[in-house]
Amino acid sequence: MSKTLRMLMIGAHPDDCDILAGGLALKYIRAGHQVKFISMASGSRGHHVLSPVQTAARRLGETENVSALTGIEYEVWDIPDCELVASLPNRERTVRAIRAYKPDVIFTHRINDYHADHRNAAQLVQDAAYLLIVPHYCQDTPALSEMPVIMHFFDNFRNPPFQPDVVVDIDDVIIDKYRILDCHVSQMYEWLPYTYGSLEQVPADPEARFEWLQSPRLPELNRPLELGDFPSERVTPVSEFRLALPAVKYREDLLRRYGYAPRFAEAFAVSEYGKQLTPDTKALFFPF
Ligand SMILES: [Zn+2]
Repeated sequence: MSKTLRMLMIGAHPDDCDILAGGLALKYIRAGHQVKFISMASGSRGHHVLSPVQTAARRLGETENVSALTGIEYEVWDIPDCELVASLPNRERTVRAIRAYKPDVIFTHRINDYHADHRNAAQLVQDAAYLLIVPHYCQDTPALSEMPVIMHFFDNFRNPPFQPDVVVDIDDVIIDKYRILDCHVSQMYEWLPYTYGSLEQVPADPEARFEWLQSPRLPELNRPLELGDFPSERVTPVSEFRLALPAVKYREDLLRRYGYAPRFAEAFAVSEYGKQLTPDTKALFFPF
């Protein structure tokens, strides 16, 4: 391997990078590259029983478990949920964090995402982008000599629709992606089921709830899954259907890239505010 890649994934909450790019992150780690997740908000309001202080502490511990399990570096900022704004201090913090890590590629949300924290995380990265190479901005942290590539995580919002530039087969790491999600106990088994009205369905036993996390299983079809196969209501917050959606939506891209159609995939779109991907850098940064 000629170059160790440095991949910086910036999400709003402690689990966004995991859900949206956990498979790709695992593939980088297994190939000897470095991955860091930043959660710009603390996760503090993601619980229906625990206080914000208790929730933030618990969610920090869950990210530490992800690190211990995977080798992904995980940093959680102290900004309360629902209070992340694209302020000047947060812009400086974003610039310093990106400069300090010196990433080859930054991943983040799109600015049309559903949650204000997601939109502001995306806005902060967008606002930071050009400033990364401006030496007289945040002079205490040396400016980058070169703009990184910036990619957006997949989302299913339609205005404007997501247009993938890279779609990655994650079938080989899907069980370990679920193990990452399994670390986020307060989210996967408490808060998200509460918001989906399915809290009473969550088994108490850790093995049983891990199986539940992966439900509903994809139907045993003798044909590729189609969008029409997806349940009309959201059955569980992180079901196989949700993690399979990019593989179904972008099957043609996957067939072109791999010559086969994996069951699970993650999709990413290039931001026009970072360095643009060339065929050579696409092969270098996405060697899977
Ligand atoms: Zn989030």
